[in-house]
Amino acid sequence: MQNTFAARQRVTALYIHVPFCLHKCHYCDFYSIPFEDASLQQWHQGILKEIKLSYIAAVNGAFYTSPLHTIYYGGGTPSLVPPSLLSEQLGLISNTFGIRTDAEITLEANPGLKDISSLRALGINRLSFGLQSTSDHLLRVLGRRTTADACIKDVLRAEKAGIDRIAVDLMIGLPGQTLADLRETLSLVTKLPIGHISYYSLTIAAGTPFALRYGDRPDLLPTEELEREMYDLVLYSLENAGIFPYEISNASRRGEESRHNLVYWQADSYLGLGPAAHSYLGGVRRGNIASLFKWLERVNSLYLTASNITDKSERQSECFFPGTAEEIVDEVAARKETVLLGLRLLSGVSSRNFRKRHCAELTQEFAEQISKLQSRGLLQPEADSIRLTRLGLDLANQVFLEFI
Ligand code: SF4
Repeated sequence: MQNTFAARQRVTALYIHVPFCLHKCHYCDFYSIPFEDASLQQWHQGILKEIKLSYIAAVNGAFYTSPLHTIYYGGGTPSLVPPSLLSEQLGLISNTFGIRTDAEITLEANPGLKDISSLRALGINRLSFGLQSTSDHLLRVLGRRTTADACIKDVLRAEKAGIDRIAVDLMIGLPGQTLADLRETLSLVTKLPIGHISYYSLTIAAGTPFALRYGDRPDLLPTEELEREMYDLVLYSLENAGIFPYEISNASRRGEESRHNLVYWQADSYLGLGPAAHSYLGGVRRGNIASLFKWLERVNSLYLTASNITDKSERQSECFFPGTAEEIVDEVAARKETVLLGLRLLSGVSSRNFRKRHCAELTQEFAEQISKLQSRGLLQPEADSIRLTRLGLDLANQVFLEFI
């Protein structure tokens, strides 16, 4: 059955992957390579071409667009990109897809940001800092070559420079982390001008130095009970400070929810550019290759081909997407995704939205799963929605398994 909602949906969210870091943190498995000026320039030229290719694809009917509502520079370390390059990219995006005047434009940043006022002048109105912890001994364990103090200074400079929305990432479940460490971090960040906090549990990713160090030494990591206490402490402390959890791993002050990430959790369409970026367009998930040079090769060759196409039927072909089509999300899969992703939100999945999107009744479609999870105290049906209970938040993975 065709996923008609996704096929018709307008794309208003753009993600751009910046694949450079000054060094590799010990736990990280995101795609990034060492920063070099020559590679940065090549990446920049590749992004300009990929913007043009995607726009031609949209003009030729491969997917529908409207002026962008959110743009998100993620990485890697996007704050390594000079404002002059960001300006050229944002200018081209504005002249092609268009950017709404009230768009959320986020840049992920590591401490040591130089020219915050120039970023603000470009329209970047949200900075998301990778703080992780305010305990320098834990930052050293993570292999982060920065201090909490440097990050705090940047947060204050960002506020002074007029950045409207400041976010930080924190981590729990770190080797050697105690409740006292976490309490100190939460007490500090809730006093800063920060409107959005993400809190992630450490995962030991294959191929990282952490996998070698801790892969077969779980005894060196906090126990499950301690990690749950940490999660509870985060929720309690943030709520007390007026920063309300709205997703399993995210909390914000009222009105400061991440509009970009809401697109993912609402299973809406988005365009992703750059090596390792993913897109969800017209019900098809595509992934760009996680290699700067292979991605560049592909973009350059498509750009050359696209420049030589004169025949209209060829213009409608696949030849504008460097990414590989990884999955066609049909209607059956789309219904599950709406529930799986939507249950991450504390507001849950709305029956009205489900009906509008899928022309089906949520409570009928998943009657068996809902009744089973409700009886286990993991899911709470409301008048017009279903959502996780407090226990369901702790055992979310068990809930998600029921919908896969
Ligand atoms: S700065 Fe971020 S992306 Fe870069 S290595 Fe560290 S965690 Fe990974």
